[in-house]
Amino acid sequence: MKRTRCDVLVKNIGQLLTVASRNGPLTNPDRHSLGIMEHTCISIKDGKIKDIGGDAGRIEAGTVVDAYGCLVLPGFIDAHTHAIFGGSREMEFSMRVKGKDYLTIMEEGGGIRATVSATRKASKDELFDGAIRRLNRMVSWGTTTCEVKSGYGLSTKDEIKTLEVAQMLQREHCVDVVPTFLGAHEIPEEYEKDKSSYIAVLANEMIPQVAERKLARFCDVFCEQGLFTKDESEQILKEGARQGMAAKVHADEFSNSGGSEIADRVGAVTCDHLLYTEEEGLASMKRAGTIAVLLPGANLYLMKKKKPPVERMRALQIPIAIASDFNPGSSPVMAMPVIMSLACLLYGVTVEEAIAGATLNAAYAVQEQDRIGSIETGKDADIIVTDVKHYEELPYWFAQNCIRSVLKAGRIVVDSIKGGDLN
Ligand SMILES: [Zn+2]
Repeated sequence: MKRTRCDVLVKNIGQLLTVASRNGPLTNPDRHSLGIMEHTCISIKDGKIKDIGGDAGRIEAGTVVDAYGCLVLPGFIDAHTHAIFGGSREMEFSMRVKGKDYLTIMEEGGGIRATVSATRKASKDELFDGAIRRLNRMVSWGTTTCEVKSGYGLSTKDEIKTLEVAQMLQREHCVDVVPTFLGAHEIPEEYEKDKSSYIAVLANEMIPQVAERKLARFCDVFCEQGLFTKDESEQILKEGARQGMAAKVHADEFSNSGGSEIADRVGAVTCDHLLYTEEEGLASMKRAGTIAVLLPGANLYLMKKKKPPVERMRALQIPIAIASDFNPGSSPVMAMPVIMSLACLLYGVTVEEAIAGATLNAAYAVQEQDRIGSIETGKDADIIVTDVKHYEELPYWFAQNCIRSVLKAGRIVVDSIKGGDLN
C-alpha cells in the first residue's frame, strides 16, 4: 500500500472552504463560489499546500493537526489597517458617546492630530512594541496577512520611521505585513495654511525616499473635503506609481469626494470606504478593475448610518473585499470575524461575500493573489482551523472567537487547545 509523506497534515476537516477561483477575484460569490469540500484533509510540505484530499490514514506527517470535523478556511487577509501608531484615543470614545462631535473632540486635543503628535514623539522600539501586541491579537482571530499604512508621521523622518517599523514587524512577526505609504493622510499642522508646500514635500521628498528604499508597496491618499482634492490625489498617486508604488485611495468616506472617480486615471488597485460613491466613481473603478474595500468598523464607531452602494457593485460586478480599517480613532477593531459580522449586519453584504472579501478578494487587494487567499496546491499554507461546523457560523457568533488553530506557511502559530498563541 503506497504511503505519502508531508511535513504537516490537517485531518478530519468537516467543511473546507478552498475559495479557489480560476477567473480572478470573486464577484457576486454564492455558496458554490466558496469551493466547499467535505470530509477531507490537507497535506503541507515546505510551507506550501502539497495536496488536498486523499486517504489521511496513508499519509505520514511530522505534525498532525486534528480539525475534529470542523470548518477549515484560508487565513484572513486584512487589506486596510493603520496598525502602527503612538498614544491612545480611548477618551474620544467616551466623548463621542456623550454626543461630542469631531470638531469639539479636535478642539479638546483629540482626533488624528493627537495620534500624529504621539507617533512623532515615539521611538521606533516603542512603535514596534505597540504594533507587535496588536499583531498578536490579530493572528489569534485568524489574520495571517495584514496591510499596514504609515500616515501618522506626516514628516519625511516620521513617515520613514513608521515604514521602518513595518519592516521590523515583517522580520519579527509571523503575520505578513504589506506596507503602504500614506503621507497624504492629513495635512500636518505646520502646513495648515500651505497645503501646496506639503504636497511638494510628498512628491519631491517622501515618495522618492520611500521608493528608493523600497519601504512601501502601495501609495495611498485620503481624498476628502478639507483634505486632498481629487486633482491633488491624482497628482500624488501618479507620482507614487511613477516610482513603483501601486495606488490605493481612501475614497468617498464623508462625501462624494471624487476619490473613486480617479480610479482609472491612477490605476487604483483598491478604493476604500466608498460610502458616498456614485455612478461615475463606480464606472471608473469598473474600468480599472479596482477592488472595492469596505470598512464597516468605522461606521460602527463613528455611529454613521450611511452604507456603500453594494447593490450597484454587484450589478456592475465590482469585486468586494472587507477590512478592519484598524486605527486608534475611528475603528479600534482588529478581529476579521467581527468585521465580517458588521459587513453583513450594517451593509447587507452576504455571508459568502464577507468570506470571499476577507480571503481571496483581499489577496487581490494587496496584490498577493498568486501566493495566498485560497487553499490551492502550491499556495502558502495559511490556514485557519475553527471550532464550528459551518461557515455561516463565523459571522453569526458575533465577537466570539471561533478560531482554534492558525497555520502560517505551514507552521502552527496559534493553538488554542494547547493554550495561547505561539508566535
Ligand atoms: Zn484608513
